[in-house]
Amino acid sequence: MRCEQCKRKIRGEPYVSVTGRRLCGRCGARLQGRTAGALGGFGRGGRRATGGWYARARRAMGKKD
Ligand SMILES: [Zn+2]
Repeated sequence: MRCEQCKRKIRGEPYVSVTGRRLCGRCGARLQGRTAGALGGFGRGGRRATGGWYARARRAMGKKD
């Protein structure tokens, strides 16, 4: 069995993501951390913070161009 993210062989139990992808422990932990961060952000008004970051990024890109 191989990790669907990095294509490495998985030893032992694979990490199965919410979308059913089988990942190695390292990719699974990374995905889990990202998902938890996204959910936590949405749950605590993070959407506004993310929107602000996006606006800043767009402004920054606009300045560059
Ligand atoms: Zn992997």
